[in-house]
Amino acid sequence: MISVWEKETFYAPQDIIIVGSGFVGLWSAFYLKKRNPKLKITIVDRGIIPTGASTRNAGFACFGSLTELLADEQRVGSDKMLELVNMRYQGLGKIRNTFSKKEIDMDMCGGYELFTKKEDNLTGDLEQQIDYLNVLLREIVKKKTFKLADKKISSLGFNHVTHLIRNNLEGYLHSGKLLNALLYKIRMQGVQVLNNIEIKKFEKINDAFEIETNQNVSLSAKQLLICINGFAKQLIPDLDVEPARGQVLLTSPVNGLPWKGTFHYQQGYYYFRNLGDRVLLGGARNLALNEEKTFSLETTDIIQNELERFLKDVVLPGKKFTIENRWSGTMGIGSEKMPILKEISPAVFCCVRMSGMGVALAPVLGEKAARLMTA
Ligand SMILES: Cc1cc2nc3c(=O)[nH]c(=O)nc-3n(C[C@H](O)[C@H](O)[C@H](O)COP(=O)(O)OP(=O)(O)OC[C@H]3O[C@@H](n4cnc5c(N)ncnc54)[C@H](O)[C@@H]3O)c2cc1C
Repeated sequence: MISVWEKETFYAPQDIIIVGSGFVGLWSAFYLKKRNPKLKITIVDRGIIPTGASTRNAGFACFGSLTELLADEQRVGSDKMLELVNMRYQGLGKIRNTFSKKEIDMDMCGGYELFTKKEDNLTGDLEQQIDYLNVLLREIVKKKTFKLADKKISSLGFNHVTHLIRNNLEGYLHSGKLLNALLYKIRMQGVQVLNNIEIKKFEKINDAFEIETNQNVSLSAKQLLICINGFAKQLIPDLDVEPARGQVLLTSPVNGLPWKGTFHYQQGYYYFRNLGDRVLLGGARNLALNEEKTFSLETTDIIQNELERFLKDVVLPGKKFTIENRWSGTMGIGSEKMPILKEISPAVFCCVRMSGMGVALAPVLGEKAARLMTA
């Protein structure tokens, strides 16, 4: 049995319980408190620390690469593609306005997309595509986004690269530091964060939800916000959200690393960046799309071997390094890339399906969720 002190403080009835303390849950709490500082809010996470994608990603302050945006446009049309870009762009602005660069190691140092011979006959006229997208994007960013940067190829030390496209609007940050800074900020706002508690189900009784957990405690709140992204199906089976494992590796420091920034390859399926003088490389999920639809956090030989091959063959040819770390995380994807933010039943809201872009999307989605819940 819990004590009266526990019952009347940590487990006291709340106005809002947010399930999931990744970026989306945290930004939502931040904006909810900004809109109404009196709201009693608790965030509950089943991990000892947040254990979804937010602590396991690559830390790209991502805008999107040329081929990724063109592929999105083909799939969903110009308007939706631009809406997503706009949310990412606004999201990055909100991160910059909320935290100092130093706090979260944010550096909008620019990024590149690279092409090898393999893509030469698939990509068509790059300059034409750059001009086309720059015109569409000008509405959002008010300046030129992409430019051909082939002259830089020889200075970056890559192998097999035939073209490079520069994007000045991208950069990176330290995801662990951002998450920690957000946690600190919302605690200062009076939000309670409870870890190691898994929400199992919830039921409306009179005007509040009784929430069943895997611990010997039950919680209650007037409203619920579910921010569990790739795990959404575990709590709301009908949602169009599947888990998608993303795998990553990190090298040892590379002596004389000749480049800095974020890099994309093959519509963003491969991505890498420097972390100081180490290289963080991830992706290759397109090699095993079905196997990667999993909640498992194992890494696999097929993906890790391909990442290593790409590293040795294209990114760091002739350089000495070892692999210091390998890990994976769970993204939330579905039949389309647009996030799901909606009231799924009276007073139960969800904000999920970040489609591998949640670092940048979360501040905007969090603000939208707060607006929806306090309208
Ligand atoms: C390898 C990898 C690389 C990525 N790289 C980038 C990148 O460079 N840039 C970018 O913008 N995005 C990137 N992403 C995607 C980005 O990390 C995610 O979109 C974002 O972190 C999602 O945040 P979230 O808050 O929606 O979900 P999550 O961070 O997944 O948080 C969900 C939380 O819910 C908790 N939870 C789940 N079920 C329950 C339950 N029943 N009860 C209680 N708690 C529960 C989990 O423990 C977890 O902490 C990457 C993702 C991966 C996996």
